[in-house]
Amino acid sequence: IRKFIVGGNWKCNGSKAMITSLCTDLNKGESVAGKNVEVVIGCPYLYGEFTRKALRSDWGVAFQNCWTGKGGAFTGEISAEMIKDMGNEWVILGHSERRSLPQLKETDETVAVKCKYAIDQGLKVMFCCGELLSEREAGKTMEVNERQCAALNAKLSKADWANVVIAYEPVWAIGTGKVATPEQAQEVHKNLRAWLAKTVSQDVAMTIRIIYGGSVSAANCDELAKQPDIDGFLVGGASMKPDFLKVVNAYKIKEAK
Ligand code: PEP
Repeated sequence: IRKFIVGGNWKCNGSKAMITSLCTDLNKGESVAGKNVEVVIGCPYLYGEFTRKALRSDWGVAFQNCWTGKGGAFTGEISAEMIKDMGNEWVILGHSERRSLPQLKETDETVAVKCKYAIDQGLKVMFCCGELLSEREAGKTMEVNERQCAALNAKLSKADWANVVIAYEPVWAIGTGKVATPEQAQEVHKNLRAWLAKTVSQDVAMTIRIIYGGSVSAANCDELAKQPDIDGFLVGGASMKPDFLKVVNAYKIKEAK
């Protein structure tokens, strides 16, 4: 059985006051220690230490990006080894905002290089993929998701995949309130697992966590969690609300099944 995993993504949001208040609420939820779920909160670099101190110890802290390789003369960047050095385990890479914002435009190749380097430094990677609305409408959903995953697979060894969680995040569902239906999400997750079985290995396909992201909330998480190939969520807006605890508790749906 795959361990359910829920990631929060605060993006470029937060302040000391907001983090203190939010963590006070989130810390009231029941412990996940020893349960079949893990939780990691993607916070802005600058608030990493602050968040680590404010946040319950049974949840991890993640970051939302890192440099492509070893640190050095790269003004303004943060390296994977720094994330590790500060005691953090997780990095979110390939978020669609980083792939598509005109100021950033990260390519499949850049994202894949970052993932490989981060894994080599001992980090775990939440790798985001997902199609644009225009790509879905053109019938290219799987072509796009497979292309993004193939770029990653070209850099990884089979063993590296043990340190990857795939976050399927259809771009049209991110921050729009327009959540994918459980059936739409399940279809892509199932197809990605089949692609992994064919391209990487049966073992990787069966053990990797594939999580869904895109307007997940306390109101829709249970229906999504009922789908057999949905192993958790990556949550933006709703991870900055106290009822994010409800999204975390969706793991109980799996246990009830
Ligand atoms: C995200 O940023 O990864 C995301 C899924 O955002 P939201 O939940 O706000 O759609």
